[in-house]
This record gives sequence, C-alpha cells and structure tokens, in this order.
Amino acid sequence: MIEKVETLLLDVPAIRPHKLSVATVNVQTLVLVRILCDDGTEGWGEATTIGGLSYGEESPESIKINIDTYMAPLLVGMEESRTAVIMARLNKVIQGNRFAKCALETALLDARARQLNIPLSELLGGRVREALPVAWTLASGDTQKDIAEANRMLDLGRHRIFKLKIGLRDVADDVAHVLAIKKALGDSVSVRVDVNQAWSELQAERGIAMLEAGGIDAIEQPVAAANRGALQRLARRFQAPIMADEVLKGPQDAFELAASSGADVFSVKINQAGGLIKARQVADIAVQAGIGLYGGTMLEGAVGTAASAHLFSTFSDLSFDTELFGPLLLTQDILREPLVYRDFMLQVPQGPGLGIAIDPDRVAALLRH
Ligand SMILES: [Mg+2]
Repeated sequence: MIEKVETLLLDVPAIRPHKLSVATVNVQTLVLVRILCDDGTEGWGEATTIGGLSYGEESPESIKINIDTYMAPLLVGMEESRTAVIMARLNKVIQGNRFAKCALETALLDARARQLNIPLSELLGGRVREALPVAWTLASGDTQKDIAEANRMLDLGRHRIFKLKIGLRDVADDVAHVLAIKKALGDSVSVRVDVNQAWSELQAERGIAMLEAGGIDAIEQPVAAANRGALQRLARRFQAPIMADEVLKGPQDAFELAASSGADVFSVKINQAGGLIKARQVADIAVQAGIGLYGGTMLEGAVGTAASAHLFSTFSDLSFDTELFGPLLLTQDILREPLVYRDFMLQVPQGPGLGIAIDPDRVAALLRH
C-alpha cells in the first residue's frame, strides 16, 4: 500500500549554458518524486522540464504543487501494484499534467519492479538491447566552441552523433554555423539540427533545402507544433528526415501524425507522452506506420534518464538513436554510482526497478528549501 508521496525540487548547475531557441538553461531544476510503500519499498520518478514554461505548460513549481495538493492524496492508501488502476484514476480526475503523471507512473513501476526483483524494462515488454547510442547536443551558440566540444566528445569515445540547437539567428547564419560544424567533423559523424519550432514554413523551406544539400541527417521540429500542415508538407517535400518533437504530446498526436504522414521520425519522450506506458504506445504507432524512432530527453537527471533508457531498450527499431545525455550536462549527480556511458553508448541499468541507487546526501545538498 502507498504510504507517502514526496516531491523534491533540486537545483543543479549545468556544465555550460545550454542555448535553445526558447530558453537558455544555466541551472536545471530536477523534479523528483519518491513513493514509499508500507512494505518499505520505495519508487522514484522524475518530471523535469526544459526551460519550464518557455517550453511547455508545466513548470517545476507547478508540478510540485499539483502533485502535493491534488495527486498525492489520491494515491495514498492505494495498492502500488495496481499501476494501471491508479493511472486510470489520475487520468479521470486530473486533466493534462503529463510530466507530473509520468513521474508518478515511473515511481510506481520502479517500486513494483523492485518488489518483483526485475528490471523496469521487463514490465514494459522486455529489453532487446543492453546499450543505447547517445547523441550529444552542441548548444553553446559559438561555432568554434561547438567544434572543439564535439572533438572532445569523439576523443572521449562518448558521442559521435551531434544535435545542434538552432533557430535563434537568421536562417542563413544558422545554416552556415551547422554546415561549418558538419564540414569540420567529417562524414563519419552524424549531425542533426533541432529548430525548436522557431521557423516559419517559408524559412523552413529555405533552411532545410540548404541543410539537406549539406548532408544533415535530421531536422527536428522546424515549425510551430500547432502547424501540423507545415510539418507534413516539409516531410513530403524533403528527403532529409523531418522529426516531430513538440507536436507529440501522447498517443493521440502520434496517431494523427501517423495517419496523415505528418513526419518521418518521432522523438519519443516519456514526460511529453504522459508516462512510460503512453510513450510505449507512441513508439508502437510509429512502428506500425513505418515512422523512425528517436529516444528523446527533457534534460532529465539520472532518474528520468534511467527510466527512458529502460523504455528505449524495449524498442525493436531505434534507427535514430537516443539523446539520453541529461546527467552529463549537469555538474552534480544524485546517484551512488553514476550511469555508465561507454563506447558511445549508455549502458541500460540491469538491477531491479530503475537499477539505480539514489544517494540521500547528494539529494539533500541540492534540495531547494
Ligand atoms: Mg527537440
């Protein structure tokens, strides 16, 4: 039985400013959920966002207050093993709040998998891979700095797929920045871009034509999430894969995009989808429609990253890899043993539940009071 649900806000400085078209992340606020059961089992989940309200409808503070005030009281006293019943109840009485619901569902599944002494991936259909290729995002805003950073990552054996955050500057300036990096890194690395909705359809037509000619491997959410028609037209017009990210807020969006051939690739994010099970449904729809899969991140710390890794390890097709680098962007970790990045891959944890051990002292040191 669930005895207690806690929500913790942790402010963790980033290793460098992380510049997106919508926000610059200097300090990442991790939103952690801890569920305690009467048999002593605990479960952890995470509802971290990128840039809070500048990215989506939920902020770290709103997530905490909505869980503490409205969701936790519904959960306390319920049987933790009945995750589907609990989530159905939450979804019936609480609209939206996908990030908060994801954190709660993750914590419930973590607790349940620990009780069963199996990795969380085994509750999600079973893993088909033990390690996930991880892209790194170059987002310093400076071409030479980005090239130096990419070369460092290649030397370290950590990343050979690079995603560039663009959309802040003129289309021509952004494209020149991207193509200079692509040229410097050569053909053995993959370079993709994320425009975070910044372009109009006309700008996107101009920008993507140049990016495609320059050998860029994917263009993520070039236009506004609300403008599905534009995304669909771009996907049809260009051979370069057009990736849906912000437009995908769960299985219903995935279904509509798939039915209208509205994108070539889906960026699957557990928080954006409203939880691990719904993210799994997004992926299943993509597979049925022949749409490629990319394992996305909301720049979560270790908990959300591990949860995402368990889910992505179950995907039969992961042709566009993942971007589960969140913990590497942060100056401090909250685990006793950090997640393992090796040979350009994140190793999927193998222990029960999420397969990680939270260090309470490290959490206490970062806790917002
Ligand atoms: Mg994105």
